[in-house]
Amino acid sequence: MDDSVEERFYNTSMSDSLNKLVIIGSGPAAWTAAIYAARANLNPVVFEGAISEENRMRGMLPLGQLNLTTEVENFPGFPEGIMGPELMMKMREQAERYGTRIVTEDVTSVDLSKRPFVMTDSAGETTIAESLIFSTGASANYLGLPSESRFKNMGVSACAVCDGALPRFRGKPLIVVGGGDSACEEGTYLTKFASMVYLVHRRDTLRASKVMADRTLANPKIKPMWNSAVDEVLGDDVHGMTGVRLKNLKTGETQTIEAPGMFVAIGHTPNTTFLNGQLALDDKGFVVLTDPFRTTTSVEGVFAAGDVADSVYKQAVTAAGMGCKAALDAERWLASMETGNPNEPMRLQWSVG
Ligand code: NAP
Repeated sequence: MDDSVEERFYNTSMSDSLNKLVIIGSGPAAWTAAIYAARANLNPVVFEGAISEENRMRGMLPLGQLNLTTEVENFPGFPEGIMGPELMMKMREQAERYGTRIVTEDVTSVDLSKRPFVMTDSAGETTIAESLIFSTGASANYLGLPSESRFKNMGVSACAVCDGALPRFRGKPLIVVGGGDSACEEGTYLTKFASMVYLVHRRDTLRASKVMADRTLANPKIKPMWNSAVDEVLGDDVHGMTGVRLKNLKTGETQTIEAPGMFVAIGHTPNTTFLNGQLALDDKGFVVLTDPFRTTTSVEGVFAAGDVADSVYKQAVTAAGMGCKAALDAERWLASMETGNPNEPMRLQWSVG
């Protein structure tokens, strides 16, 4: 994140006053929820996450995964495409324009056992809220090899956009692990710097969308290594990572590829650990929505939107759509609390300006 962007973040100390709605997260779901909630006069507070080294390592800095990506070609309204960070800043600005209050801290704990909900943030402040929207997204998975952990920040990364331009990677062969859209995107991006990108995938076909897969496989600087897995990341304390030992999963043969960098793009895990089991999750850790057409969760007054509650689509536009639904659900629920009418009609926001 460059300085000009960082300057735009500010800390607001939330007093002990009761907030109608707190939104946790800062991706498309969170900002869309904030835009709708602010326009409905719910005066929402967004906890966008803290700017910390720990969050950087986990790929969890404010503005979500799109802030770590390059060009977004499939978000409607941008026929020429738009850079992910720019799209996220525009969403944030739009939420601010309608009066959203933004706190640049992580929510570290939350008590969902009674209402109003009480939460503590990474600055040690307490915030209370009548309703909550969780849109905390998901963070990058790693392979789990001890040698991978050893060389994190010394060659191993889960974010090509963050780290790809580092001098150690320039003009050198690089490894990308995975076969989905993320791996294709990271691999293509890295061809700007690398002499060659080895795309290591455990099967012999890509999971990525056809357009991304075709573009990736047509790139002369990307060499797919089918049916292969990283057996060990090689290196030493002086040079950091120097290569990988690959294993062919069909033949069992191993080979060494010399490379100073490995970018892991094998999917994401929903960010739900800080919930400490207080919300129902599915077996993969995604928040369970109690009604498939709504954003209601196992706790009344708590709603969820975006990748944290979506194990299927995981797109920026579907996350934004869920954020809209969550704000409308929260608004309707808050109104029902005031009127005592559990069937409070949905007040749709058709107005302009
Ligand atoms: P993904 O689609 O789940 O793909 C993960 C890839 O990693 C798969 O190829 C998987 O292999 C492989 N993998 C998983 N665990 C592994 C392990 N332990 N060892 C080795 N390989 C492993 O994840 P993603 O690529 O991050 O994409 C997530 C979602 O975001 C998708 O819905 C995608 O469409 C979307 N996305 C879209 C764009 C875009 O449109 N511009 C860009 C990025 C992501 P298998 O194939 O064998 O399962």
